[in-house]
Amino acid sequence: MKEWLMNCTNIMRLNHEENFKFSACQKTEVFGMKIGLDMDEVITSFVDTYLPYYNKNHGTDWKKEDIYSYYLYEVFGISKEEDTKSIVSFGETEEYKNMPLIEGAADGIRKLSRKNELYIITGRPFDRREITEEAIRKNFNNCFKGLFFTDFKAERGHAVPKHTICNDLGIELMIDDMPSTAEEIYNYCNIPIIMPEYPWNKNFDIHGTKISRVNGWKGIMKYCRESL
Ligand SMILES: [Mg+2]
Repeated sequence: MKEWLMNCTNIMRLNHEENFKFSACQKTEVFGMKIGLDMDEVITSFVDTYLPYYNKNHGTDWKKEDIYSYYLYEVFGISKEEDTKSIVSFGETEEYKNMPLIEGAADGIRKLSRKNELYIITGRPFDRREITEEAIRKNFNNCFKGLFFTDFKAERGHAVPKHTICNDLGIELMIDDMPSTAEEIYNYCNIPIIMPEYPWNKNFDIHGTKISRVNGWKGIMKYCRESL
């Protein structure tokens, strides 16, 4: 058992009905590819849901196109602690719980799950586990083999690096919108990464890497059709 798996708070069993047994270290019946998916901005629409909440509480008028960095404290000009505090309280709201899906995610994930093993690797905090599990079960029952949390905080980054999880799971393709995370995974795991384009990654230099910037889920599915 890998060290980061010892703390089982970040292991999920998504398919309770069939008593699906998931172990990252146990080789399962593999078909197609092992694909890792980030949660926010790949599956769920975090920024579009969070900005109205932040603006309402701070009397600001930030729009999605202003978000040049996913380190939101840089954009808002606040401290990392304030950033974390605001996101933690947003995590308690109904809006967070009912966060809409990214356009095309529902259809794309269902299609990809037919021939591939899908894993969610998210920076969400450990204590958002139940809410996240519920959202996944509601929208994607049986589509995912596992759900892993890295507990990202502005002050210290991911508690468990995503590249460690990718490596241990044997992920062969990752989908992630965050430039620093994509770069790290590429450097450590040398796997292709699909990056749906957003204002915070559109200027990120992908030249000479296996990172492909694409146009939303249309672009993700096009990449998969042509490459898998
Ligand atoms: Mg993301």
